[in-house]
Amino acid sequence: MKIRTRITLQFTIIVSVILIVFATSVYFISANHREEEFYSRLEDNALTSVKLLSDVDEVDNNLLKIIDNNSANSLPDERIFIYDAKDKLVYSNPDNARYNIDTILLSEIKNKSEVRYSKDKYDAIGILFKGKRYDYIVVAMANDEYGLNKLNYLGYLLITGVLVTIVLIIGIALFFSKQALNPISGMVSQIDTISISNLNLRINEGNGSDEIAQLAIKFNKMLERLDAAFEMQRSFVSNASHELRTPLTALTGQLEVALMKGDADPWIVLKNLLNEIKQLNKLSNGLLDLAQANLDISEIKIETLRIDEIIGNARAELLKRNKDYKINMDFEHFPEDENWLKVNANEQLLKSAFSNIIENACKYSQDKTAEINLSFNSFNVSIMVADKGIGIPEEDLKKIFDPFYRSGNAKHYSGHGIGLTLTKKIIELHKGKINVGSVYKQGTIVTVAIPHC
Ligand code: ADP
Repeated sequence: MKIRTRITLQFTIIVSVILIVFATSVYFISANHREEEFYSRLEDNALTSVKLLSDVDEVDNNLLKIIDNNSANSLPDERIFIYDAKDKLVYSNPDNARYNIDTILLSEIKNKSEVRYSKDKYDAIGILFKGKRYDYIVVAMANDEYGLNKLNYLGYLLITGVLVTIVLIIGIALFFSKQALNPISGMVSQIDTISISNLNLRINEGNGSDEIAQLAIKFNKMLERLDAAFEMQRSFVSNASHELRTPLTALTGQLEVALMKGDADPWIVLKNLLNEIKQLNKLSNGLLDLAQANLDISEIKIETLRIDEIIGNARAELLKRNKDYKINMDFEHFPEDENWLKVNANEQLLKSAFSNIIENACKYSQDKTAEINLSFNSFNVSIMVADKGIGIPEEDLKKIFDPFYRSGNAKHYSGHGIGLTLTKKIIELHKGKINVGSVYKQGTIVTVAIPHC
């Protein structure tokens, strides 16, 4: 069911129920009031007649009838019957009134002192009157045509009023729900026009302050993030294919030249090819790690490991591959609690992150030396990797974490510009922080802080 229909329906039902309860209450209160008023007048008339009959000796039936008929209080089609204690009719007004009052009713009146009842078109009251000399039973009845007509008219007015109001309410509810939901319908049709090829489109933010405008603002922000993510992915794919193509072109070129010459030294050719393939291998491993680092932490195997061991392994592997590197590792102070050395980590990923940082320090410095220093506080273990190398120009510092970005200083060094992107992702995956400080042509310090156990 559409929200508009639901709002209209709910609003109509609620208001209709309130109206019906109100109208019914008014009707029943009026009906009760009419009845009470009518019976009270009937009772007054009955008592006046029976009192005169009982107490005033001079009054005979005829005089009483004259008094009854001329009373200002007399009711339409009023009949009064007075019986003595032996159920004998002693007074009846009008004379010829035929009305069947049986002995059962008379004895009921005697028992209860007062009985009210309705029969045919009459409302009647029967009262036991204890006079000075005798007891009497007086039954007065009348037809409250005027009161009942008024009540019927009120009922008719209330029913018509309720029905007309319900129709009006349906119209009003439809109108207002349409007005309230119009901006949403507009949003829906605008959203329909947005596809992957035009993620730069934005929807109308209306007055910028109500709930629907807030929704539109949030939606636009989400579009912005999606657009940026798509753009990044697009440029990543094109950069990655470019990086993969470069060594492949070099490989093809070298093979073509060797085949053309015919007399190339196979050892030299193979050595060159091996170098290119190693670069290619490194790049594809980096891309694979990057894909893994983009995963959610819950999808990666996490163990409790000693940070000095992870860095030690990275150092050993680097030294094995690069005989000219010098990597010195030092503790500022050894922690008292051995748990401070432990981190929850994925061994392969964290080793690859430190490998990148340490390799950069050696690769981009003349003395090929990296100084690693470990320190601790109650929350984190901090790893500082310093070199006295070529440094990074200040304006490039904020870009070095972008995928495939290589600063001008690295022109003459091998690399693909994905090492630090990967490293940052891995450190953040481990709830850590990375910071790079550098002075151009003097050296670089990379600091990583990771929460320990
Ligand atoms: P790569 O080293 O393969 O080029 P990285 O992502 O590891 O890629 O580094 C990105 C860029 O940051 C490098 O190209 C280089 O310009 C700069 N850089 C990183 N580490 C250092 C460092 N220790 N000294 C000087 N420049 C560095």
